[in-house]
Amino acid sequence: MILQAERLEVRHGATRALRDVTCEVAEGQVLALIGANGAGKSTLLRALAGLDAVRSGVIRLFGEDITGRSAHAVARRGLSLVPEGRQLFADLTVRENLQMGCYRAPGDRAAARLRFERVFGLFPVLRDFAERRAGMLSGGQQQMVAVGRALMGEPRVLLLDEPSLGLAPAYVGQILDVVRELADTGTAVVLAEQNAAAALRTADQGIVLSNGTVTHRAPAADLLADDDVSRHYLGVG
Ligand code: ATP
Repeated sequence: MILQAERLEVRHGATRALRDVTCEVAEGQVLALIGANGAGKSTLLRALAGLDAVRSGVIRLFGEDITGRSAHAVARRGLSLVPEGRQLFADLTVRENLQMGCYRAPGDRAAARLRFERVFGLFPVLRDFAERRAGMLSGGQQQMVAVGRALMGEPRVLLLDEPSLGLAPAYVGQILDVVRELADTGTAVVLAEQNAAAALRTADQGIVLSNGTVTHRAPAADLLADDDVSRHYLGVG
């Protein structure tokens, strides 16, 4: 397993946002996090990325205990988070936004060029719009920039928070196809999604979070076929 979390507890003030949450993802696999608004999906991703403090439990990345490490230290070890809402620099160009993701090897121009080519290969429209300000792009294209920016750091683990939120269906398919392709080339992916059906069709494994705890854990195909999961989470998509 590339990334493992055991018995995590995270609090936001008095709210126990995560309780006793255990999950893991292997190289080349997509783990889907399913759950209603406020179930704790973002908190779990942020805890894994070192952005939310863990009160108890252990997080291991490549076998190393990274619990309590800074987000910067976790990123340097190969983990990237694509946050909910994308958080691009609207006034910078697409190319400049992508460049921001290069900080793991800032001086190496040849390597950066290869990474640009890889991102443009995955999302060809970004090559055409490379010199446009990111704020001028559609929501789906901005999401591509956000994913592309994370990929510029060559992560071995990619965490995605609601990448399909607010996107037209055509873009949802494109983004999730790229997620699958990244996993198939060895990246470990954790995909938090309210669009549960689409996420589970992309994923290998899935967990369902409810009120900060794991209620279901199974291969994604089994969750798709599960009556209880279907009734509560698969109404859309
Ligand atoms: P969403 O889809 O809305 O992002 P989520 O499943 O990602 O939902 P979280 O955002 O992780 O859920 O929220 C889990 C719980 O923690 C919720 O009760 C939420 O209100 C609370 N919470 C999240 N962030 C904070 C914060 N910064 N301060 C206080 N409470 C918070």
